Amino acid sequence: MPTLVMKFGGTSVANLDRIRRAAKRVGVEVAKGYDVIVIVSAMSGKTNELVGWVNETSPLFDAREYDAVVSSGENVTAGLMALTLQEMDIPARSWQGWQVPVKTTSAHGQARIEEIPTDNINAKFGEGMKVAVVAGFQGISPEGRITTLGRGGSDTTAVAFAAAFDAERCDIYTDVDGIYTTDPRICTKARKLDKIAFEEMLELASLGAKVLQTRSVEMAMRYKVKLRVLSSFEEQSDEAGTLVCDEDEIMESNVVAGVAYSRDEAQMTLLSVADRPGIAATIFGKLSDAGVNVDMIVQDISEEGRTNMTFSLPNDQVARAEMAMNELKGKELNYDHLQVEADVAKVSVVGIGMRSQSGVAAKMFKVLSDEGVNIKVITTSEIKISVLVDRKYMELAVQALHDAFELDKAA
Ligand code: ASP
Ligand code: MG
Repeated sequence: MPTLVMKFGGTSVANLDRIRRAAKRVGVEVAKGYDVIVIVSAMSGKTNELVGWVNETSPLFDAREYDAVVSSGENVTAGLMALTLQEMDIPARSWQGWQVPVKTTSAHGQARIEEIPTDNINAKFGEGMKVAVVAGFQGISPEGRITTLGRGGSDTTAVAFAAAFDAERCDIYTDVDGIYTTDPRICTKARKLDKIAFEEMLELASLGAKVLQTRSVEMAMRYKVKLRVLSSFEEQSDEAGTLVCDEDEIMESNVVAGVAYSRDEAQMTLLSVADRPGIAATIFGKLSDAGVNVDMIVQDISEEGRTNMTFSLPNDQVARAEMAMNELKGKELNYDHLQVEADVAKVSVVGIGMRSQSGVAAKMFKVLSDEGVNIKVITTSEIKISVLVDRKYMELAVQALHDAFELDKAA
């Protein structure tokens, strides 16, 4: 029997009615002849509630017990989904991560999946079970403790199962009907894509499009798992949603596939730093020790032995970064002062077409300048150009770029 993985996110299993609705979708695929592995999230809001309880009980919590608590939301939905399927006369049973077992590292709160042996579940398929319902987001460490995979981790569970069982496809059911050219909430012309390449999706996911956990896309790309993102709230055809796939499977696409943004960024500049070998290592080593996630970096040309170093970081890490830089001042690092701009946003255009077509950057900068939007920092990769702008211009920038690259029209 071919295997299909179907993953239902929190809103798709938010109450018993929705679980029934999801179970009906599973029934449709079972009727087509698939052995189905269903991966469930916790009911929406549940994981946040559990995390809240942990923090309230123990602010400096033991991460092993955090995992014991926050993994439990998925146990409930897995059992309820199996029961619902059984009520529909579909042979099903639930599996918690440790029962499969989903073997992970011991990095509690953000463990990585190392191996998923298939024999237990396959043995049950062999005995006539049609659906294995697996609690997403969780696994077991080499020490035998329950682990979780980081927020949004049940996407990664789903892709890992699809890879391990060599599934025909991994369908991710969620509350949006696919991947859009940009966020429809800030750009009314945003268009749903039929297909998007793994690499583009990876950039969009890591740039802040929250539909899929970034690691799930990385894994899908590595193991060539066909991923489909679709809504559990609409009647579905086989072509519904967006297929995330190898670029070879996409005949024609726009040079730019999408515009992404990330709202809560900050920019810091160390002004007039004495330039000598090792300053970058000193600055960014210190920031990394302080747990600051630096994103963009720009170093000016030095003049008379002094230079400026600018970097961007998440807004909520500014205090930590300031403290770290102050600790260096006058000791390992000689600089004039630290300038902080907390109200900036990052806007990026992404597309594999950029590899072969030049002029995308020039066009992007022209569009922004025509709108009077000042660019503060620029970074590029092979398939992405990102700029930092004042946050108040973020929406305008996204809309203008979406228009200019004609993303409302299919290729
Ligand atoms: N329930 C977990 C979370 O909210 C995992 C998931 O749903 O992907 O992060
Ligand atoms: Mg999610």
